[in-house]
Parts: sequence; C-alpha cells; structure tokens
Amino acid sequence: MTIEMTCPTCGSHDISKNGTTRRGKQNYKCRDCNRQFIEDPQWKPKDKDTRAFIDLLLLEKIPLAGIARATHVSESWLQG
Ligand SMILES: [Zn+2]
Repeated sequence: MTIEMTCPTCGSHDISKNGTTRRGKQNYKCRDCNRQFIEDPQWKPKDKDTRAFIDLLLLEKIPLAGIARATHVSESWLQG
C-alpha cells in the first residue's frame, strides 16, 4: 500500500504506517532509511500540487487564514 507521504530525512515515498503515538498521531516509518516520524504539517514539504492549489485559492481571494487551514500550511509561510 502506498501512502502519500515523504520521508523528512531522505525524501523517499516508500513509507509504511507504523502504529500511532501516545497522542494518537499516525506514526510512519521510511522503508529506505528506517527513519520513524509522525505526520506533522509543519515540516511537510510544499510540493508543486500544494503550491498550485494555494495559488488557486489566492486567486479566489480566500483569506490567508482559510488557505492555511485548508492546506495545512502556516500563515507565515503563505506570507513569505
Ligand atoms: Zn527515509
């Protein structure tokens, strides 16, 4: 099963689910470098699709706060 995730260490997409943390967050493990990590929008790379989607939302004059919530990026990142 392929998960739409990117390893924060090596950038691999070969990620498997690895249970959940005590806080109930999904835990992932990279099969290439064996790094374990949890899903965290703060470090999630902004791929081309996300950027294109944000551009679209900006054109629709949606407030930055709304875009940030919808795309899980920070408002400060959007302003940058
Ligand atoms: Zn990796």
